[in-house]
Amino acid sequence: MNFSLRVLLLTLTISSSFSQIVSANVVQQTKGDFEDKFRQLDEILPTPNVYRNAAGEPGVQYWQQKVDYKIDVVLDEDKRSLSAKQVITYHNNSPYKLKYLWIQLEQNRFKPDSIAEKTVTFGGIGRRGPSTRSASDSKPAGISLGELRRQQFYADNNPGYKKIVVTDASGEELNYVINGAQLRLDLAKPLAGGESTTFNIDFAFDILEEDAVRARAGYEHFPDDKRKGGNDIFLLAQWYPRVAAYSDYEAWHNKEFLGRGEFTLEFGDYDVSITVPADHIVSSTGTLENPDDVLTKVQKERLEKAKTAKRPVFIVTAEEALENEKAGTSKTKTWRFKAENVRDFAWSSSRKFMWDAKGHQQGGDEMPLVMAMSFYPKEGGDLWKKYSTEAVVHTLEVYSRFSFDYPYPVAQSVNGPVGGMEYPMITFNGPRTKWHKDKTRTYTLKEKRFLIGVVIHEIGHIYFPMLVNSDERQWTWMDEGINSFLDGVAGREWDPNIPWQVEPRDIVDYMKSNVQVPIMTQSDSVLKLGPNAYTKPAVALNILREVILGRELFDFAFKEYAQRWVYKRPTPADFFRTMEEASGVDLDWFWYGWFYTTDHVDISIDKVYKLRLDTQNPDIDFDRRRKEELDKPPSRFVETNKAEGRELWIDKNPDIRDFYDENDRFIVTNKERNKYQQMLADLKPWEREALERAVKEDKNYYVMEFSNLGGLVMPILLRYTYTDGTQEDEMIPAEIWRRSPKAVQKLLVTDKELKSVEVDPGWETADVDVENNHYPRQIIPSRIESFKSKKDERPVARDIMHDIKTKVEKPKVKEYKK
Ligand SMILES: [Zn+2]
Repeated sequence: MNFSLRVLLLTLTISSSFSQIVSANVVQQTKGDFEDKFRQLDEILPTPNVYRNAAGEPGVQYWQQKVDYKIDVVLDEDKRSLSAKQVITYHNNSPYKLKYLWIQLEQNRFKPDSIAEKTVTFGGIGRRGPSTRSASDSKPAGISLGELRRQQFYADNNPGYKKIVVTDASGEELNYVINGAQLRLDLAKPLAGGESTTFNIDFAFDILEEDAVRARAGYEHFPDDKRKGGNDIFLLAQWYPRVAAYSDYEAWHNKEFLGRGEFTLEFGDYDVSITVPADHIVSSTGTLENPDDVLTKVQKERLEKAKTAKRPVFIVTAEEALENEKAGTSKTKTWRFKAENVRDFAWSSSRKFMWDAKGHQQGGDEMPLVMAMSFYPKEGGDLWKKYSTEAVVHTLEVYSRFSFDYPYPVAQSVNGPVGGMEYPMITFNGPRTKWHKDKTRTYTLKEKRFLIGVVIHEIGHIYFPMLVNSDERQWTWMDEGINSFLDGVAGREWDPNIPWQVEPRDIVDYMKSNVQVPIMTQSDSVLKLGPNAYTKPAVALNILREVILGRELFDFAFKEYAQRWVYKRPTPADFFRTMEEASGVDLDWFWYGWFYTTDHVDISIDKVYKLRLDTQNPDIDFDRRRKEELDKPPSRFVETNKAEGRELWIDKNPDIRDFYDENDRFIVTNKERNKYQQMLADLKPWEREALERAVKEDKNYYVMEFSNLGGLVMPILLRYTYTDGTQEDEMIPAEIWRRSPKAVQKLLVTDKELKSVEVDPGWETADVDVENNHYPRQIIPSRIESFKSKKDERPVARDIMHDIKTKVEKPKVKEYKK
């Protein structure tokens, strides 16, 4: 114990207006019980090396592979199938010799014998699509109609590649082995570091019906269109055999696709020729190389106009698209797209598409003009016309501010059967309008939020992970969590009145639930993907930015991460290390608590008591004690006696009095004064100075007791309310918990009288129980819901645009039998 602390303990005693100090609430750390929440993460993270260093940067010998593709693909609309020839050039930039290459065949994951299909559990957690029960349900699971549709689609179709032929540059067939959704290609001779090899894969497959299978791609059929037999929208992704990633930290990334953990890919250059019916409009990754072959003169003029337009310009108008979808053609056209330095390639095609575009003048040297474009059928309606392309531009503005200039020439949003999915330069987004009998189209606020939110989210993915190429198969949070954090930033900057559900309060129910695993869990093993990989990491990063680091430190570090790793392959350790290095703040406790455990935040303020400086001066202290005695409420029994008219002995006998009737027990004598003067004389000069100043200032000393019920250590955000009505906020850094993570005490010294204390008044830390955040405790208002509200009756889900036209009706009177 150091000396200044001893002085404090000697001279401070409790004011009698509060009960005596008890430390019952303070959990004492005992041997074996101590948990070091601030233990350094280096013990868990991989050892830094020449490929990725201790600062979280690409190392001096960082390398990555490059794979170039040249593909000629033909869409057979009637058969709903694709057939293609592709030439792959693989550049081995690693220092290692490769005897074989692994190639991903994602279409094969829909084959009945794939690991993905074989391991679909019945009614279990993590089923994509309609889930029939939750983990806590005791009743047996049923089979949903969606599940039946899927089973029936599989029974009637042959998913997976129906043709795979691999040949070398001279046309000789190469040796290969297909293992589920992967193919091992045995090279004729080992490929040394620095060498390249070229080979061909011819392939074909039937396109899946997205609504039946939920494959992140596929066709959607519109049977009600005027054209005989209806029309389709085709969304093509994971469509061509792609060489698996080979990295410094995992070698071949050949963990098979199970349907959840997405795609880990290499950057490369693409040259893709797409042959489709001549009346189709194609939207694709890349730049259109042959506009003269596929676009009309008018369309090209409109595209030119769109470059500098204030609002999106239609390249294909609603009327033209409607006219187009009435007929068909047996002619074909070939659209040729080239894309440089992309890690994947996706496209879509339909005669239903209208197409609008607007130039985003972002400036800079790399790509001063980016074309933001949207493609959608009439079913997209006004919702798409008004917001899709504008949301693309807004995303580019916000995301680039946090990272780097958007480096590609186009950014596109395509409406189709996929709720939301991202690829380089192109995204698939699902929201639609609703058609009514009165021949109008309307949409709900929920659908509006969905459209703006999903476009921001999916376009945002072009930055993370399409450019900052994290390993999606392993860590969903690195793309979904980081992207959800930024889409929340962009959403709030769009219109904060739309409920975006990215606030700390939006994760509290999940964080106190039992169905969860740490964020650092491989994608396919995560229990609840939405809250685990999207909301929780997004909220964590929000808290890191707004509460722990502040915007200035966070934004610098985050931008540093984005710029270090654009076009490269970061791991979680690279992110953790960069954020810590660039902010200059030890965040190991934060990464550990939020990403490696399932602890939650619940900080309780258990007690506040007041200390008073014992001045030792009898003329001050005795008087104070007298006042405190007088402040005590009178005895009820004495009051009752008085009320009954009982006369006191001393009042009845006023003639008998003594010294003690004139002087109370707090009277000061020179005996005390002498003792006090002697005490002062014995103090060292600095001790006397400190005591006299404290007596003069007469401050209030409050001790606050906190306990950490959730386990996650966090800063303690406090709001003090004083008796004069003023308020003051204070943030105590998380390090207060470092020696005692379960309970701490904190001294507050103030001139004012404290009335109440609140923990986390803005609900910024995702504290799961706000009831214990007040001292004194308060009644927390809550709503009693008499009827369980149905999902589509939530305010945000109502089609108010349509319902507003409803006429007043008389209620139907029910007849009861007499
Ligand atoms: Zn996403």
